[in-house]
Amino acid sequence: MNFEKSRTEMVFQLRKLGIIQTDAVADAMLTIPRHFFIPHSHQNQAYQDHPISIGHGQTISAPHMNAMMCEHLDVHPGMQILEIGTGSGYHTALLRHLVGPSGKIFSIERILSLAENAQKIFKALKFNNISVIVDDGTIGCQEHAPYDRILVTAVGPTIPQPFIDQLSEENGKICIPVGDRNCDQILWLGNKRGDHFHKSRICGVRFVPLIGKYGFEK
Ligand code: SAM
Repeated sequence: MNFEKSRTEMVFQLRKLGIIQTDAVADAMLTIPRHFFIPHSHQNQAYQDHPISIGHGQTISAPHMNAMMCEHLDVHPGMQILEIGTGSGYHTALLRHLVGPSGKIFSIERILSLAENAQKIFKALKFNNISVIVDDGTIGCQEHAPYDRILVTAVGPTIPQPFIDQLSEENGKICIPVGDRNCDQILWLGNKRGDHFHKSRICGVRFVPLIGKYGFEK
């Protein structure tokens, strides 16, 4: 299978649909080998635009969702980012490409084996500015706050207050799905300036639940 050709075609289609809007996001999606993050049994689907099971009842989001969230977050080189829900690690790797070697990513995953697997891939890709933390991500990570950007890739019943508290007051942005466990979910973009937090609706979505203190019960 020619993964590079499939990856180029995926990016071409997402650009044509207007989902990828910037060269930065296009470059990230052209560069990061998505098939590295997909279980071997499904690698032939790596560049198809749908979610794929990564085990433990979890999924890697569809590429259009990765692209859309990256575009809305407006990530720049050197930024410090908190991600909740490492999963396969693919979205983390896209963020790493966008922040470059001078940025910093803290990514929290509650399932140990997913975190370990993602860490192995980051090591192979020589991404040494990603810290993967195994914990309940709904409490965020106060130790390294504030964050320029926060990305949440599992749906919570509300936006956990620790995320708002740990977001930078200087145009900090958070992208997070909120809603029911199984339906009626909305993707929000939150923006913090000083002590003012404003959120705007992006679109309806479908994510796995955010499990934890400020999320859903297990
Ligand atoms: N962005 C990921 C990717 O590119 O593969 C997909 C993430 S998957 C849709 C959501 C992830 O959130 C799952 O791996 C799940 O275990 C994780 N998760 C759910 N609740 C969590 C929590 N409280 N803290 C950390 N991770 C959590």
